[in-house]
Amino acid sequence: MNRDEIRASRPRIIYEPKPGMPLYSDRALYGRIGNETSSRKLVERLTVAPRSGRAWPLRAGQVCRVVLVEGPQVGDLNLWNRHDPRERFWSGRTKQLQSAHMEVFDRFWSNLPFLRPLATVTNDTVRYGIDADGAGCHDILGTRCDPYVHKLLNGEEFDRCCHSNLTRAVIPYRLNEFDVHDNLNMFQVTGLTPEGRYFVKPCPGRKGDFFEFFAEIDLLCAISACPHGDLSVPVWGGAAGDAGPTCRPVGIEIYDLPAGMLEGWRSPEPVDYRGQHGLGYPERNSSTD
Ligand SMILES: [Zn+2]
Repeated sequence: MNRDEIRASRPRIIYEPKPGMPLYSDRALYGRIGNETSSRKLVERLTVAPRSGRAWPLRAGQVCRVVLVEGPQVGDLNLWNRHDPRERFWSGRTKQLQSAHMEVFDRFWSNLPFLRPLATVTNDTVRYGIDADGAGCHDILGTRCDPYVHKLLNGEEFDRCCHSNLTRAVIPYRLNEFDVHDNLNMFQVTGLTPEGRYFVKPCPGRKGDFFEFFAEIDLLCAISACPHGDLSVPVWGGAAGDAGPTCRPVGIEIYDLPAGMLEGWRSPEPVDYRGQHGLGYPERNSSTD
């Protein structure tokens, strides 16, 4: 094909989750978990103060609900394997395997050399869909705000960016800023312009809205209540203003599920690739050992 033919060709989705594929989560199971809520038991409730971060363990088989307790607010979420923090959420691959905006039944995939679902989305009361500008909610196109970009663009030392909030939150778990990774921007509406530039819109969440996910393995979760609040105030450029009044807390609720609800569910294993990247190990010669 020449370049004009390639330009005129139809877009081809590479990884389309279809029933029977590992990318396709069990609709009956996760629908039940998300909808049959009367039998679940609230075991812990936490609050993430405005412009701060918080971390908490979540056991495999539990559900975590992130609630907009006072109104619109963006939350930046990181996930790690509780027992090996080298395994963590891989937003880049999840964007390809699921979509650029996380919806009910999408899964949070982990990085290499693991690659398994860390969590599965079970409910979302915003259900924004895709708007006329191609934007969606619960963004994984972008990443967290950080003090390095802030310094670069604004010249200020600002210690309340999501990257810093997440860093402070995970220090008690012996992690540090190198462990903070590309995240889910929960309740954040984003897209790409026709020219391919990243854009945001104000948070569409309202008081009482929530997003929840089911832990497929034992997790450490951390969330930052973004210092840019509901993203209604521009952060950079001539129109930049004070987002402080738009910053609100975020609520975290952790639930145990009745055992019967998880019948047939098994905590997933990493992909069992054994090829050693084609290197292999030298064969041992028993006569010379
Ligand atoms: Zn932020």
